[in-house]
Amino acid sequence: MKAKVDKNKCIGCGACTSIASNVFDFGDDGLAEAKVEEVKAEDQEAVKDAEESCPTGAVQVEENK
Ligand code: SF4
Repeated sequence: MKAKVDKNKCIGCGACTSIASNVFDFGDDGLAEAKVEEVKAEDQEAVKDAEESCPTGAVQVEENK
């Protein structure tokens, strides 16, 4: 699974960085970003929660095919 943040949509609310702190962190611009290329199995549930919790739909999750 891959996770990305659309910085054009992110408002820096911190939901994703607290729900899935292994995957998301704030960049120098104060907006969230994914800090891993590939989401580990144990973090996938948290990433899905973060996707659902993001108020602006900025968290994008892509399942591996
Ligand atoms: S939950 Fe969404 S809006 Fe909030 S910091 Fe994460 S990506 Fe940005």
